[in-house]
Formats: sequence, C-alpha cells, structure tokens
Amino acid sequence: MRQHKLALCKEHYLEWVPAQTERIIRKYEMFTRHEKVLVAVSGGKDSLSLWDILIRLGYQADGLYIGLGIDEGLHYSTESRRLNEKFASERGMKLHVVDVAEVYGETIPAIAARTHRGKEKPCSVCGLTKRHVMNRIARDMAYDVLATGHNLDDEAAVLLGNTLTWSGEYLLRQGPALPGTPGLARKVKPLCRFYEREMAAYAILRGIEYVYDECPFAAGSTSIFNKQLLNDLEHERPGAKLAFYLRFLEARKAGLFAGREDVQQELQPCANCGQPTSAPGLCAFCRMVATGKAVVAPGPGQETEA
Ligand code: SF4
Repeated sequence: MRQHKLALCKEHYLEWVPAQTERIIRKYEMFTRHEKVLVAVSGGKDSLSLWDILIRLGYQADGLYIGLGIDEGLHYSTESRRLNEKFASERGMKLHVVDVAEVYGETIPAIAARTHRGKEKPCSVCGLTKRHVMNRIARDMAYDVLATGHNLDDEAAVLLGNTLTWSGEYLLRQGPALPGTPGLARKVKPLCRFYEREMAAYAILRGIEYVYDECPFAAGSTSIFNKQLLNDLEHERPGAKLAFYLRFLEARKAGLFAGREDVQQELQPCANCGQPTSAPGLCAFCRMVATGKAVVAPGPGQETEA
C-alpha cells in the first residue's frame, strides 16, 4: 500500500483492516457496542466486508438488503440478493429484505419510467427509494444507527463533484458521520478511509463471495468519471486521494463553513409515512409513489427476513 508506505502479509492485513475500522468508528464517535447497527448491504465487496468486519469486532450488526428489481441482462438484483442471503445464512446473521416491487408495486426502472424521473437512468428514483427504505427500517425496527459501505474512492469522488460545482449544502453535510434528527437515523460510513482496492483485497482474502459487476446503470456516471480522475492523480501521487478527503474534513472542522453549521431547513413529518420532509404534505418519496396511484404506506414487518 504505497499510500500508507506499508506492506502486509495476509494474516496481518486481515488484522489491520478491522483495527483501522475500530479506530475510525471511535474517532468519529459512530456507535458503541451497546447500540444496534443496521448495515445496508448491496451484495458488493464494500458493504459485505463492512458487515463482516463489524461482526468480527463484536458489534450488534444486522443487514438490510433492498431489492431494486434491476434484472435485465445481468440479473443484477437477483444475484445480489442471493449473495447477501448466502452471507447472512453462513454466519447465522439477521438480514432484512425489502423488495421494492413487492412492497411498493413496481421495480425501480418501472417507477422511473412511469414518473419520467429517469428515462435512461433510474438513479434519482433509486437513491430516493433507498434513503426512504433505509430510514423506515431503521426507525421501525429501532436501530440506533445506519451504516453504509462507502469507501474512500466513493467519498473522494463525491467530494470532487461537489467541489467542482461548489455545492455548499452538500459539502456541509458530507462526512463520516451524520447525526440523527427526530425521525431520521444517524448515518455512518466506517470504511470512508479505505481505498476501494483495499476493500477488494479484504473481501478476497476473507473469501467473501460478492457481486463483481456494477449495477448496469452505473456505466457512464459522473462519479465513475471522477473516480478515474482521482485514480490518475493517485497513480502519480500516492496518498493524494486520502489527503484530499481528510484535509477537507479538517478544514471543515477548522471553520471552512463557519456560521453555516446551524442553518437547518424546517422539517415536518410527511402526511403519509411520517418521515421528516421540508415539503408541505407528502415527502418526495411518497409523492413519487403516489403519482397516478394510491399512496402505499407499509408498516413494520412488511419486509421479509432471511
Ligand atoms: S447505479 Fe444502479 S444501484 Fe446505483 S443509484 Fe443508479 S440504479 Fe441505483
């Protein structure tokens, strides 16, 4: 690992990754061993590795898989679900499964086509749905915190994108731990300081079977383009990606956004699902689902468990 000036054998690498994760969890005060953690798992190397690490570290971590219904060609969703269920059953862990088509009546591509929110790419519909479902399960199942498998490459690419457009509101909110607010779970990213290659190495060395293929809609996205730019930079200057991200966090802590920290949008509960929203009446998710259809309000336990 040129960026860390460190070379480890398999045995020590598999000790180093959990030890670093523990340090990150403590440094950013993400959660304790007394709290219940919900890990959002996609079937990819990062989220399954995160779940594996938290189990090894002795945290109370259950999984949540959201079935998106993206199955044309690669059977991406079917394969993701199979691998998540395999991971959970091999370790005797609890996995919540929410199939969007079963609960809300349509797959993500179908909602996107109907609502015209993403004729070619359903990513905005997908992101909105995933955020809604993750919050709902965390709230309904009384989890203290929601953990996602975002790695350094993901975070640095988002940071670059937001910096190139000077998206202040997004820069203000980006970080390893986002505090909870009434109705919204605390969100944490314990892998935010690991390079993508480090997580791939961890998954392979641990024998974790994961989905190799990206979601078919990811091709050509801005975040993949930004990742490539950062990889080129990293190739020339090892450690540049980590420094870009960490120095942003330090600068923000030192007052980069001084005076903006307490700017909060007024939030009120959605009239349908109860999750906080800045819009009067229905939140963006319930408006989307309700377009031309009856509003669906699933209660706790409507998801299946594997
Ligand atoms: S790339 Fe696929 S999984 Fe990711 S947001 Fe887009 S549709 Fe969803």
